Order: sequence, then C-alpha cells, then structure tokens
Amino acid sequence: MKAIRRITVRPVLPAPLAPLNDLARNLRWSWHEETRELFRSLDPERWDAAHRDPVRLLGTVTAERFAALAADPAFLDRLAACAEDLREYTGGDRWYQTRTGSGGPAAVAYFSPEFGITAALPQYSGGLGILAGDHLKAASDLGVPLVGVGLLYRHGYFRQTLSRDGWQQEQYPVLDPDELPLTVLSEPGGTPAHLALALPGGRSLRARIWVAQVGRVPLLLLDSDLEENDSGAREVTDRLYGGGSEHRLLQEMLLGIGGVRAVRAYCRLTGHPAPEVFHTNEGHAGFLGVERIHEHVGRGLDFDAAVEAVRAGTVFTTHTPVPAGIDRFDRDLVARHFGPDAELPALDADQVLRLGRETYPGGDPTLFNMAVMGLRLGQRANGVSLLHGRVSREMFAGLWPGFDAEEVPITSVTNGVHAPTWVAPEVLRLSARQLGARRVEEALSTGDDSRWDALAEIPDPDLWGLRRNLRERLVGEVRERLYRSWRQRGAAAAELGWIDSVLDPDVLTIGFARRVPSYKRLTLMLRDRERLTRLLLHPERPVQVVVAGKAHPADDGGKRLVQELVRFTDDPRVRHRIVFLPDYGMGMAQKLYPGCDVWLNNPLRPLEACGTSGMKAALNGCLNLSVRDGWWDEWYEPDFGWAVPTADGDATDPERRDDLEARALYDLLERRITPRFYERGPDGLPDRWVAMVRQTLTRLGPKVLAARMVREYVERLYVPATTAHRALTADAARELAGWKARVRAAWPRVAVDHVEASGAGAPPELGAVLPLRVRVRLGELAPGDVEVQAVAGRVDPDDRIVDAVAVPLKPAGGADLEGCWVYEGQLDLARTGPFGYTVRILPAHPLLGSAAELGLVAAPVTGTATGAGVLLR
Ligand SMILES: *Cc1c(COP(=O)(O)O)cnc(C)c1O
Repeated sequence: MKAIRRITVRPVLPAPLAPLNDLARNLRWSWHEETRELFRSLDPERWDAAHRDPVRLLGTVTAERFAALAADPAFLDRLAACAEDLREYTGGDRWYQTRTGSGGPAAVAYFSPEFGITAALPQYSGGLGILAGDHLKAASDLGVPLVGVGLLYRHGYFRQTLSRDGWQQEQYPVLDPDELPLTVLSEPGGTPAHLALALPGGRSLRARIWVAQVGRVPLLLLDSDLEENDSGAREVTDRLYGGGSEHRLLQEMLLGIGGVRAVRAYCRLTGHPAPEVFHTNEGHAGFLGVERIHEHVGRGLDFDAAVEAVRAGTVFTTHTPVPAGIDRFDRDLVARHFGPDAELPALDADQVLRLGRETYPGGDPTLFNMAVMGLRLGQRANGVSLLHGRVSREMFAGLWPGFDAEEVPITSVTNGVHAPTWVAPEVLRLSARQLGARRVEEALSTGDDSRWDALAEIPDPDLWGLRRNLRERLVGEVRERLYRSWRQRGAAAAELGWIDSVLDPDVLTIGFARRVPSYKRLTLMLRDRERLTRLLLHPERPVQVVVAGKAHPADDGGKRLVQELVRFTDDPRVRHRIVFLPDYGMGMAQKLYPGCDVWLNNPLRPLEACGTSGMKAALNGCLNLSVRDGWWDEWYEPDFGWAVPTADGDATDPERRDDLEARALYDLLERRITPRFYERGPDGLPDRWVAMVRQTLTRLGPKVLAARMVREYVERLYVPATTAHRALTADAARELAGWKARVRAAWPRVAVDHVEASGAGAPPELGAVLPLRVRVRLGELAPGDVEVQAVAGRVDPDDRIVDAVAVPLKPAGGADLEGCWVYEGQLDLARTGPFGYTVRILPAHPLLGSAAELGLVAAPVTGTATGAGVLLR
C-alpha cells in the first residue's frame, strides 16, 4: 500500500541527551570529526544505515539505547565536550572579530542557486555549489558574518546509476524537509514566515524559509512547495536546473527577489544585523539587485539613484568563461514578469530590461542577459582564477567601450576549498601528531600559512605509509561501490567474483571525476586505447584509473561519453585496472581524492574557470597532472606536479588538438610519472615521489584553502564595498546619478584638442623628463568632472602600450577664449628602450568604483595630435 501522506515524528531525547539535538542541527558536524564520532558511537550500524546523517540517525535509535546512553557517564562526558566545543566555536571571537583592518561589514548576504554543504543535504550539482558550501564554512571558521541564501529543491540533484550497457539513468529521490537538518523560520506566534511574489495573470508564488545552520552561518533556503500555491508555483523549487526557461526565470526571481525578502524577515525575527554587502555567486541570483532597487524606490529614490545605491554594496562573481554558459532569457518573458500586473509594479519594466541588455557589438537585443545585469548592478566583480579573470575581462570588454581589456573592472579571487571538509581524517591525525591538533585546526581554518612549515618535518616513511593507507582504503571503497553498481546493472552475485581483485593497493592510482560537459573531455584518455591499455597492463609499472562523472540529464552527448568510458572499463582485459563509479557526489569525493596518487584534469584550456577537485586532492598529498587551466595555470610548479602541454591558441583543429594533448598526456605518464612512482631509493621508498607529496602539502596546501579565499573576499571586495555602500547615502546616490547623467550627455563634446611635448627632437636619455602640455575641450563639463591623464609605458611592435602607467595632468589657468583648457605635467623616462605614451580624458568622481565605470573615454584620434602616441627610441 502506498501512503497518501507522510509525516515525520521527531524523537524525544532523554533530558541528559538534549544537546544531541543542537549538535545534529548544526552542520558543523560535517567538518568536525569528533562530533561525527560521537554520533557514530550512538549506534555504528544505524549510523551507516542513516547515511551518516545525525538527524536521520536520531530518528532511528531505539528508546532503550537512548536510555542506556543517558546513564553512561563516559558518553555524557564526550557529549558535554562536543557541546562545549560547539558553543565556543559559535560564540567566541574568531579571525574577523580580531582583524585589525577597519570597516568590515556588519553582515554579508551570499546568494547562490546551489549549496554543497554535505551529502546529507544534496542541494548541489557540482563545483559551483560545493564552492558556495565551502565559502560558508570558511566564513564560519573565520567569524565572517555571512548569511547564505538559496532555494530548497524538493528533489535535490539526481542520483546516477547505469543500465546494463552503460547508459546513464537518473533517479530523483524526494527530500522531506522534516527529515533534513533544517528548521522553518517562524513568526513570534509560531506560524511559519511566508513571502509572496506576484505573477502575471493574478497568480502568486509563495514560499516559506528554511534555515540550515552552518557553524556560525545561517543558510536560508526558500521552498515553494506549499499547499497555498497553485501547482505551477508549487513546482518552482522542484529541482535544480530543471524545466524550461520560464521555470528557470521563476526560480531566479524567487532566489533573487524572494531571497532579499527572506533576509529581511530573518533579520527582523532574529535581530541579525542587516547586510551591508550582497554577494551573488554567478548571475542566477541577479534579481536581488532589482528587489533592492525597488526597496530604495519605495523610500523615495528614483530608479537611477537607486541603481547607484545598490551597486555600491554589491559583489558579483562570474564563473563561466563560456558565453554559452551564461544565463539569458527572452526579453518578452522578462517583460511579462515585471509588467504592471506582476512583481515590483513600482518599477518600469523597460528600466529593468535595460539592466540586462546586451549593448555591445554582436549582442542580441531580444535577450536579457543575467551576467550583464550582474556586472551593471555590482560595482565590484570578479572571476575565480587569474586566468579566468583575464578571460572574463576580454569576454565582457564590450560593456566598457574604449577601454583595453586590462582596464575592464573585473578582478579575480582564486577559489579555494574548505580543508576541514576535504582533508581525510588520517591526514589530519598524522599532521596533528607533528603539530598538535589545535595548531592543525587553526592552520586549516584560518589560512595562516606560517604554521605549515612544520608539516615538512613529517618523516618520509610516515608520509609514504599514509599514502599507501589511503590508497588501500580507496581500493576497498571502489570494490564495494563497483559491486553495488554491477548488482544494480543486473549481474548475479556469482558473476562478480572478479571484483575482489579489482585495483591493487600498490599500483599508481589516477583519479578523474567531474561533471561531464564536453569541455572537460572525460574520454580524452581513450584517444589511443591501445596505448592506454599498455599503460594499464604494464608488467612492472602499471597504472590504475578511477573515473566518475555525471552528465546533465538533458545532455545526451555527455551520456554517450559516459557510456563510451563505461564500455571500455567493462572489458575483462582491463577491468581490474580501470573502473567507472556511478553517482559522483560529495560522499564519494571525500573518499576518492585522498586515495589517489595523481589527480588528472584535461579540460580544453581556458574553459575551466578554476576547478577545485585538484585542490582537494592536493590537500591530501595527491599530485596534480593537469592542463594549465584555471588555478593550475597560476600555481603549477614542477616540484609538485605536471602540466599537460596544450595546443590552444594555435587555431588547431579540435580533433588534432585532442590527438596532440592526449599524446602529451600518455608521454608524461609513461616517461615521467610512472618511473618516479616505482623507483626506489636506498631506504626502499620512492624518495622523489615522497618529496613531491611533501611539496604539495607544504607549498600548495596553504594557497588552496577556502580560508585564504574568504579572507581575500573580505579585504579586497567586502570591505571596499562596505565603504562604498556607507558613502552612498540617499543624497549621495541622487547626486552621483545626476552627475552621471550630466557627464553622459556632455561627453560627445569632450575631446583632446592638441598635445605638445617639448624637448622632442633629439632622442631623450634615461632619467630625462618629458614635459607635456595638452589642450582639451570639456564642453559643459568642468575640470572637476574629469581627469586628464598621460598614459605611458613600454610599447610592443604594434605600438600598443603594455604595462601602462597613468600620470594625472594638472589644469593650468582657466578656459581660453575657445573654451579649451590646458593641462600640464611630465613623464619620467625611467627606463630605456621603446616607449610610448598617449593622453586621455576620463570622467572622475570620488564615488566611482573604477575609471572605466561609465565606459566613457576621450583620446586623441591617432595621428592628429602632435606627439601623442609617438615612439621614443
Ligand atoms: C569539488 C567537486 C566538484 C568540482 O570539481 P571540479 O574540479 O571543479 O570539476 C564537483 N563535484 C564534486 C562532488 C566535488 O566534490
């Protein structure tokens, strides 16, 4: 019989065990081994059966067992210690409270369409969500006052299994919020807090707000699965990235607009300080800016002034270097949802539409672009690695016409990973033996790199012993998972004896696991199957490979790649040396990274914005073998890994490029990697391998931490955004918006009229100065509205200035009879060789985030201004 309704009865714990409830409901357990051990000891069998989820576990432990534990002094001592530790963790001062820099925000709201905190709360599909989860956890460790905002998907992300012939199958398990580590946000009387969005045609979209406690950080998750909603509205939060574009638009409106309202409700009901900074992780939550404009308009600002007020405190992080990966909606669809009978009626739909318009050459006027809106509504924007920052500046340069890509105001903060989540307990224990548990915890959770050197003193045999131990545990895990997968694919137990000898704990183990968009090239390793087979079956120096990956449910191309790989691994000749594990997720990832010796990544450069799995591997002493893309482009060194040479940028045909890069990969494995792993020094250890493991831990370790990343966000983005936000009072916002309108209107008459460089003639010498006199027309503007600059630097063979330095020039006297102004200054010729300069006029205002902000610049028309742009040799 099938139940028509399902309810969850919560356990009543004996009074002495009451602290278990708090420990289960704060997700800190997911990165705190002692708390997990405490729960496991309640009932080890049920712990595994409950998928290591404390909330679920508490629902299954028997009353007798609880009674016995309540009378067990040793257990109660451990319980008290864990409860005290959590109290201290959530209550005491941490890095943020004691940092010396000034002007930290009272709170930051961090929006993301997905959050990967733990396998017990499967609200993520891949890297973006796990990064968001790591961001919250690291912020919690550092005491940064963050509030997370997302959606609660009824189906979470799909579980992957395989058909007999290796085709991906998807299952969408239903999640019951009552069984998850969540509490509903309630009004003082106890009724759940609600919010509602008006939809076209008189419909409405209501949602309630769940709170997941992530250490010190609350995560608000909006849920539209309410009986008061019509069936369409109910389904808005049914699944992550499912449905058509209207479904997606409604999800994003709920996340952005509803999310701001959820934060306001949370602050009202709990006394939490209001956010001064709003950070949007990728463009999906961009409507948060529109809702905040609406708030300002309600308080009497006009639209343009409200945009200024919102921009100042908004940070936008872009994650995709692929234009096709950007979220775009049909303009009419957006217009309908912001029309007079829909949400935010006080805003003019045309004004909203203008925020997402692709105004650059090649832009599509019929589309509304979420990334473009993100950049217009965020005064601060960043990519997620140095290379990705560069690629993003080029990709979006059209929004700042007249400026070189280097001046596009998009910086980068390289991603990091939350060490306490991703470092295997075995690695932590060995480090703790060397450093003391406290120092290890501090080093990992604060990103203070002065503490890492001591790891260098772990003796070689211990390090190698650790690596073997981790590999052996992975082999056991792989066999279990493979067995389950084959049973599920329809094999009888009697056919599966071979699985007992799959993988070998002494063979070099390569891992490759990720989502399967085509740019990640899941099957590059199959390019030359014979060569791969020889590597796998090498008599003295074999390799073994563990592969995992999910294709997007709508991506048949990706599923074909999975199938191709699975079929190769099914071949009895190689199946003991290469396996595909279905259902890649956080639970598997935590086992997989530590057990591998080499983590492989072979994306099409530069399409991997950052990549984080290799960072998690590195923290466990696994060496990276990767194309120089994302973070590896920035931090690769031959001391701790290998770079697969790429054939990008040569306009190489894609097939040929795959051939070349695959060949380079096999060469590295054959000639460099396997010999190093199998060679033995006088002490019987692979000394040079162990040295690389040590370098990975001590030198790469401190860089790849989410703690380092969050500290960078605080110092480089949140603090400046807070300053800007505080400066943008209503009056200042009005003034700034008025000034921008005036400057835009006046700009067509702003021009560089004439440039004079005295001393031209004989080639100048090093140390000389070059006096400049520039005549400019400012039209209706005054010198206070602009900056006139000389821009100088080395020039390349095409006369482009590289490594440019801008020198402000000063007005000399008033306007002449023609209304022109003269500016003067000088350039120091401080280096020899080809050198060039030009002059330009930029709008200038103390509240601008960057000189390029308005996309306005006036420079001499090349060849007409005397001396400008000339080469000095
Ligand atoms: C870290 C992680 C990812 C992201 O890895 P990339 O290297 O960025 O592809 C995806 N899925 C899971 C489960 C992860 O843990």
